[in-house]
Amino acid sequence: MSSAAFQTAFQQCLNPECRATFDVGQVLTSCPHCGSLLDISYDWNSIPLPRRLSDFQQRWSSRLNPLDYSGVWRFRELLRFAADEQLVTIGEGQTILQRNDRLATACSLQPGGLFLQYEGLNPSGSFKDNGMTAASTHARLVGAQMTACASTGNTSASLAIYAGVTGLFRCIVFVGSGKIAFGKLSQALDYGAMTIQIRGDFDDALARVRQICEKHPIYLCNSVNPFRLEGQKTIMYRVLEGLGWQVPDWIVVPGGNLGNSSAFGKAFLELRQLGLIDRVPRLAVINSAGAATLDEFWNTLGLRWNGGRPDAGVIRDRFERMDRQDERAATLASAIEINRPVNLIKALRALEVCDGVVRSVSDQEIVDCRARIAATGFGCEPASGATLAGVLRLREEGVIASGDRVVCILTGHQLKDPDLTMAYHSGDPALAAKKLHPAGVLNTPFANPPVVVDNDETAIVQALGLDPR
Ligand SMILES: *Cc1c(COP(=O)(O)O)cnc(C)c1O
Ligand SMILES: [Zn+2]
Repeated sequence: MSSAAFQTAFQQCLNPECRATFDVGQVLTSCPHCGSLLDISYDWNSIPLPRRLSDFQQRWSSRLNPLDYSGVWRFRELLRFAADEQLVTIGEGQTILQRNDRLATACSLQPGGLFLQYEGLNPSGSFKDNGMTAASTHARLVGAQMTACASTGNTSASLAIYAGVTGLFRCIVFVGSGKIAFGKLSQALDYGAMTIQIRGDFDDALARVRQICEKHPIYLCNSVNPFRLEGQKTIMYRVLEGLGWQVPDWIVVPGGNLGNSSAFGKAFLELRQLGLIDRVPRLAVINSAGAATLDEFWNTLGLRWNGGRPDAGVIRDRFERMDRQDERAATLASAIEINRPVNLIKALRALEVCDGVVRSVSDQEIVDCRARIAATGFGCEPASGATLAGVLRLREEGVIASGDRVVCILTGHQLKDPDLTMAYHSGDPALAAKKLHPAGVLNTPFANPPVVVDNDETAIVQALGLDPR
């Protein structure tokens, strides 16, 4: 293990009263002194950085060097916590920023005003691979034999693919019962992860896996793992790259455990500190109305980062009430069906850095917007649909201006949750009654149902609206 890599980075407690630091060789998911979240910090002076961001782009053409080809490790100097020979990659981050003028028009933005960052193209079909490649690198660096995560589905699919492809460690995934989309669960099973399905929801599964990993030699890969967020910073680097290194006006992202939101804020904070950008975009975090803890904290309770000292009483009271009343998250967007976002504090920092806003949107808006995005050829899962719903809302409010340049992060692939897609499009009343109506989705205005026709030429030609010949 090269000690040079160790000296460039360290783990640091987020709490300004503590700020304890720890070697990157330690396995920690919270500060041992005060229990706060940990950040990865860098000694930037010891890292030879490119002078301009565009220097990273050159590497993409060197397809035979796996580190240059990776959309994460191409930017490795900006997350230099391990030496090159320690980095784990399976070709993640080959994702693209797509200009989408049809959706821009739908949002009354100007042509060139709306972009989709399509993270569904990752090896396991969601953005989670950006983080898991970094967590896998750290797991390897500390010699972990066994890794684990709790998941609404995509984290487990991602961890399972890294364990499967690299063979570096075994992997255990904890899922709640019932709520996980079949596309995701089937991946974990297929990639050979040991899958523990507990009776409870995601919040229960996460609490349980944290407890077990603390007592046993199991490496935890949830987004409390600060290394994961380092990998997720690169989504923003690729967005900038896709815009010719110009900073957009808005980044719009669904909020679940708030790992992505937190990582994006950290990415821009660091780029600004390094003088590689001169302004930061605004951040819009979109909750589902059925899992709107951040919305409530930010907009109703007025919780703010406050220099790293957010009002602990407000947070404690809200979570205690949640426990007392056994409030559970409930949304069709299962990837963001989370009531106790573990990265809440870091997300407050991101909202501060990026002059952010938070909104929540209904399941009806989410599934309609998912279908509208898919109809332009970008299949995404329900959680990702929240981004377009958020843009529509913020346009209506005038918070996003018609001339703004907006980037929506499409977090996961359409094929993750085909049951929901079929319930939406098929027009089958039984499917709708089972999947959609309980969530309050009563209309499917963007449905594209199959046309059922007898196997008969005349009938088919008629169904096609053509003249008989
Ligand atoms: C994990 C996930 C989210 C939520 O991201 P957080 O970083 O937990 O806020 C959103 N969409 C998809 C598809 C996901 O897999
Ligand atoms: Zn601390």
